Amino acid sequence: MLITHDLTYRYPGAATTFRFPDLSVDRAGTLLLLGPSGAGKSTWLHLLAGVLSPLAGRMELDGVDYAALSGAKLDRFRGRNIGLVFQRPYFVDALTVEENLAIARRMASLPPDPELLRTTLHQLGIDDHADRLPGQLSVGEQQRATIARALVNRPKLILADEPTSALDRRNASRVSALLRERAAELGAALIVVTHDERLRDDFRQVVELTSLATPN
Ligand code: ADP
Ligand code: ADP
Repeated sequence: MLITHDLTYRYPGAATTFRFPDLSVDRAGTLLLLGPSGAGKSTWLHLLAGVLSPLAGRMELDGVDYAALSGAKLDRFRGRNIGLVFQRPYFVDALTVEENLAIARRMASLPPDPELLRTTLHQLGIDDHADRLPGQLSVGEQQRATIARALVNRPKLILADEPTSALDRRNASRVSALLRERAAELGAALIVVTHDERLRDDFRQVVELTSLATPN
């Protein structure tokens, strides 16, 4: 499970400090962080992802305080335990969808597993596109490929930043359902940050934010 305690963050030189509410998300738990643009949601997610280092506080995933890790240890921990779905799909454009997934495993020093890649692409309904370049996929398909990539290391924690904002209602609800189904199957905790009110009813736990910034 994921537990955070007294997490804070300040951008270099900023006059304000973000103070994040404590979180507790069980294995297979789902949490929606809902709030307006500028509230600090992406900053929060980047902390939980280990992309930004907190000013203070603890973040524990199955008992490991990864806020205290850095460098190669943090990279290894993140690669093996955390799946990230970014706001905008990004891929190595010159490689196929399947090759992009294979790289995610290699970067975490996990053995190749072509069958798992194919199964994951199939579950997301894009196995027909495995051999295509990412640029040849529609926006919705690229978003599903991004989710597939976040799953192939079988993470304990899946973090998604505005995964549905760029999608129409039908695709948004499909992507939301896919994230929840796949997280449940892996027994992973799922945290989504968004301003997309359409997702509110899909999640067990919802935290609503206004602004998390406070004067230093
Ligand atoms: P979002 O679409 O998540 O609301 P923002 O518009 O807040 O994103 O920010 C987009 C990017 O610009 C972020 O990745 C952030 O790092 C950067 N950014 C936002 N505000 C500032 C700022 N005041 N100074 C420097 N960079 C910023
Ligand atoms: P949200 O995801 O809720 O839209 P963000 O976490 O992207 O919010 O940004 C929250 C606030 O943090 C922004 O309004 C911006 O002023 C500030 N911010 C974001 N990125 C940076 C940055 N790289 N440097 C300085 N300030 C930033």
